[in-house]
Amino acid sequence: MTQAAQNDRYLDRLAQVAVHTGLNLQPGQDLVLTAPIEALPLVRRITAAAYAAGAGVVTPIFSDPAITLARFQHGQDATFDCAADWLYQGMAQAYAGGAARLAIVGDDPMLLSEQDPEKVARASKANAIAYKPALEKIANFDINWNILSYPSTAWASRMFPDLPQAEATQRLADAIFAASRVTVDDPVAAWAAHNDALRQRTRWLNGQRFSALHFRSDGTDLTVGLADGHEWHGGASTANNGITCNPNIPTEEVFTTPHAARVEGYVRSTKPLSHQGSLIDQIEVRFTGGQITSARAARGESVLQKLLDTDAGARRLGEVALVPHSSPISQSGLLFLNTLFDENAACHIALGQCYSKCFENGAQLSGDQIAAQGGNSSMIHVDWMIGGAYTDIDGILPDGSRVPVFRKGEWANAA
Ligand code: ZN
Ligand code: ZN
Repeated sequence: MTQAAQNDRYLDRLAQVAVHTGLNLQPGQDLVLTAPIEALPLVRRITAAAYAAGAGVVTPIFSDPAITLARFQHGQDATFDCAADWLYQGMAQAYAGGAARLAIVGDDPMLLSEQDPEKVARASKANAIAYKPALEKIANFDINWNILSYPSTAWASRMFPDLPQAEATQRLADAIFAASRVTVDDPVAAWAAHNDALRQRTRWLNGQRFSALHFRSDGTDLTVGLADGHEWHGGASTANNGITCNPNIPTEEVFTTPHAARVEGYVRSTKPLSHQGSLIDQIEVRFTGGQITSARAARGESVLQKLLDTDAGARRLGEVALVPHSSPISQSGLLFLNTLFDENAACHIALGQCYSKCFENGAQLSGDQIAAQGGNSSMIHVDWMIGGAYTDIDGILPDGSRVPVFRKGEWANAA
């Protein structure tokens, strides 16, 4: 088979995975889809697969890097505090009416890195405010949603700057296809098996009722208290509309909510963090009483400090996640400059907002109850990698006894 024919076949399968595994789109359900214009070949396939599965109305919304840049180069200054409110209101209305949501990522991770940072911040804030009502439906897991990737040329060139563009794009395509499990004959069945394996891990962790996890490796000795009534999640998950979907393709993590006031010790990052066009590398932070009290980075330290100063919750944790070193994304050895991939390469922690679904009966808890149980709140949620080949993790039970969870980067038990 030629390379082009094989790419076409994998894109066909990726569309099936998006509709049947990622979204689990129901007959009659509408779909709102966003994508970079370069992903058109995938969007066409997904639209066809969605209608073949009985979709209601499928509405694709495209973005284009040159059009995005044109605004920053020629737009009137006052307009950077504005957003297309009507569009976001329409999206919120669609979700409230039962539509599913699909986001295809593939943007140049450094697209705005040379634009005026103040304008970028203002535009992003205006967008965040306008999008909030729609985002809440997703953050509260009211609807089935999915995010997956398309190998765009600009993204590939950032990852492989020394390769000719066609070669770089093929390398990224190969990595996305493998991580999204579409290189096997029956990807939907492969995802079902992978979801089962992740469910066994979350079941075991939920049965343990650990009060904390203790991470140890070179440069790290960190005790992460877990929130009261925390619940582990991973892989497929059931939204409040009753539909079980796979929000992230790929996904390798099991994750839960740390206790915002019970994190102690020091931790060193094991991979660079790509954040809004900047790279932050070799992060070293110290936690006292759940809060980051000192932070350094060999590269991008000012970006890190700015991030930590976002609001009161930005210095506390909102997520802790376990990923074995043998996970396929880790083994690829690639830095994708994209959280969807990079967070699935290693154990990680996230600064900022917690997930309400990572609590027992999370959908029924008020914001105040979540905070009382130790859930953090913030405008940010930024994952960074702390796991590697030598990571040891103990689970600490309420009576202080310890259970091995990870040894040398891998699960310590067969679960
Ligand atoms: Zn995560
Ligand atoms: Zn996260």
